[in-house]
Amino acid sequence: MLKVAKFGGSSLSDSTNMLRVRDIVLADEARKVIVVSAPGKRFSDDHKLTDLLYLCHAHLTYGVSCDPVFELITSRFLEIRDALHLDLPLEEDFAALRKEMDAKISQDYLVSRGEYFSARIMAALTGFDFLDAADWLTFSFDGSVDTEESYKKLRALTEGKRVVTPGFYGALPGGRIKLLDRGGSDISGAYAAAALDADVYENWTDVSGILMADPRIVPEARPIARVTYSELRELSYIGAQVLHEATVFPVREKNITLNIRNTRRPEDPGTLISEHFDEESENEKSFITGFAGRKGFDIITVTKNGMSSEPGAFRRILELFEKYRVPISYAPSGIDCYSVVAPDSAFQPVRFQLLAELQKTLSPDHVHVSENIAIVAVVGRRMVFRSGSSGKIFTALGEHGINIRMILQGPEELNILIGVKEKDYEEAIRVLYSSFSEQEKK
Ligand code: ASP
Repeated sequence: MLKVAKFGGSSLSDSTNMLRVRDIVLADEARKVIVVSAPGKRFSDDHKLTDLLYLCHAHLTYGVSCDPVFELITSRFLEIRDALHLDLPLEEDFAALRKEMDAKISQDYLVSRGEYFSARIMAALTGFDFLDAADWLTFSFDGSVDTEESYKKLRALTEGKRVVTPGFYGALPGGRIKLLDRGGSDISGAYAAAALDADVYENWTDVSGILMADPRIVPEARPIARVTYSELRELSYIGAQVLHEATVFPVREKNITLNIRNTRRPEDPGTLISEHFDEESENEKSFITGFAGRKGFDIITVTKNGMSSEPGAFRRILELFEKYRVPISYAPSGIDCYSVVAPDSAFQPVRFQLLAELQKTLSPDHVHVSENIAIVAVVGRRMVFRSGSSGKIFTALGEHGINIRMILQGPEELNILIGVKEKDYEEAIRVLYSSFSEQEKK
């Protein structure tokens, strides 16, 4: 059994959290490769070290003294080191880094030091070897990750060892440090898991998994026990704050199970994400996986008598959206009527030109624009096995006076999408969550 465990910034924000991480790591021998973020916020208006490092570099760029910010950064690390009584002469590294800053330092290199020192501390704390990300995560010249090379290097460097490696950065051919996107330690962890064909990629954070609904709207939302990669894609596409697409890709490709866990509650099983679950062995009652949604859509409905039998009419509508660079999120249709659901940030700036051209090319009988629409997605792979899911959705919303402006059910039956007015959005999510969890209790 081999596990790659990645710990996020909130799990590493101070010495107490670092000790929690050490205990988790040491509690399971299968956890062989540990990927860490830079220390995050300790309290709500605290700063993430990564943000301070960006700020520090901005001071250098504009020729303003960066010493006060640099001091904040180094003292956070020294505080952690001292509280953990580690014998790690970080002062020397900081002095050398400060000198490099006076010469010329790239933003990526300076910012990467957050993860670098975090990993040095965690390696000393666990007794694992420190493995610099620059030694294995390799970018190609075009800036993409060279997976073949990276995987080969990581396999060789971790042979028979347990290591701690920094997330978020790697090196270009020639050695120059390059960062991944913000939040990129998740991606580093996913590459490490894929490289080693890990059994599980654990992603440790500060919640006990992916919640069934946005906790800002439904504070009592429960974590999802199991979700497939396809469902996760549906949920994140429509707005759930889950993992970055790039995180999922390397592990999904290798069919590795991803497990989201809570560092503060290691006893919680968290959320398991996999390509497929053996439905027979599941005794979960739940057939809805989660609810997500997003505001900021417009529905443009074009009606013309006889249009359904007019070849190419739909294509011409779509072409206009393409011409004006308005992405189409969904396109439900009816008899003699086509609707396009588009983000209003893209549609509104070109609204009048696009509609005028539509009028000219298609001569529709009627064009209607519904603004301020929110889309709510009800996602669940198990919905297929239950009849009446949609009925229940409409009843619940209807009983609460929420008017449905659009309904779409994907052909894969993985989701049901509902368009409501933005003002009804939060209420719609709350109503759906409570009506479905009430049913499950019965
Ligand atoms: N520390 C980096 C950031 O804040 C990367 C990460 O935490 O994953 O974006």
